[in-house]
Amino acid sequence: MRKFRTALLAGTAAAALALTGCGGDDTATEGAEAPSPSSDVSFEAGTTMAEINEAGTITVGTKFDQPGFGLANLEGTPEGFDVDIAKYIAAQLGVEEDSIEWVEAPSAQREDLIVNETVDMVVATYTINDTRKERITFAGPYYQAGQQIMVLEDNTTINGPEDLAANPDVTICSVTGSTPAENIREYLASPGQLVEFEVYDDCVAAMQNGQVQAMTTDNVILTGYVAENEGEFKLVGEQFTEEPYGIGITKGDTAFCEFINESLQKAADEGYYEEAWTSTAGQYEGTEVPTLPEPDACV
Ligand code: GLU
Repeated sequence: MRKFRTALLAGTAAAALALTGCGGDDTATEGAEAPSPSSDVSFEAGTTMAEINEAGTITVGTKFDQPGFGLANLEGTPEGFDVDIAKYIAAQLGVEEDSIEWVEAPSAQREDLIVNETVDMVVATYTINDTRKERITFAGPYYQAGQQIMVLEDNTTINGPEDLAANPDVTICSVTGSTPAENIREYLASPGQLVEFEVYDDCVAAMQNGQVQAMTTDNVILTGYVAENEGEFKLVGEQFTEEPYGIGITKGDTAFCEFINESLQKAADEGYYEEAWTSTAGQYEGTEVPTLPEPDACV
């Protein structure tokens, strides 16, 4: 039930607005028009592309609780920028949108899902870093985020990570296995100041029920929670890390990595990348239309 809560709340807010006849921001983030699958593609036998194309289906790991990137709708199907990026790659492989199998990929489970071959790829606000590269390969990056802090709207004591050590009674929430949970440790008075959950939705609930007073992860993820919970939260300080988002695949599958990078470039050239952004995460105040970053070497 957890994963549907944010969508339900958003739905309730929309219904309330409709009833009162008030305007307000349209924060619907259903995403871009799904690309038609390429029917005239052929791939070298034995490649991951050929296997997926022949099977006619692809399994994708993504988030189910992050507005703007991967948020399960009332039918349980995720929507967002990551989801749209995955749909485009699936189409380039000749896979119909209805034939994509979505698997929830909480931060700490992403490498395992790839290594165990539960999924063909992970598109899930997934920062490229050397530790993760020991077990998997990343295509991309396709977006550049940065870590920031979110507090309750009326908080005046925490204005950035430096204020945490000076306020040891403040607890801050993040997600196990995420880079922000690791990065924040150096700013804390003691390890107990960090509260970790499996998914960000649980941090949002902990903020709302007073268990924690702050939350940290990537700026664009927090922006989604600020927008979807009007008047409750605000971002403070500047971003203090760089979080380049990559697409996780089986380690050493350089042909698939290169295929994904070419697909990302095609998405940008065709305007799909921008359309996907503006109809998802780009709906939230404070976001800017990104340009596709240069890809890293596929290793
Ligand atoms: N980009 C960060 C990471 O990959 C935080 C977002 C997340 O947990 O998905 O760990």
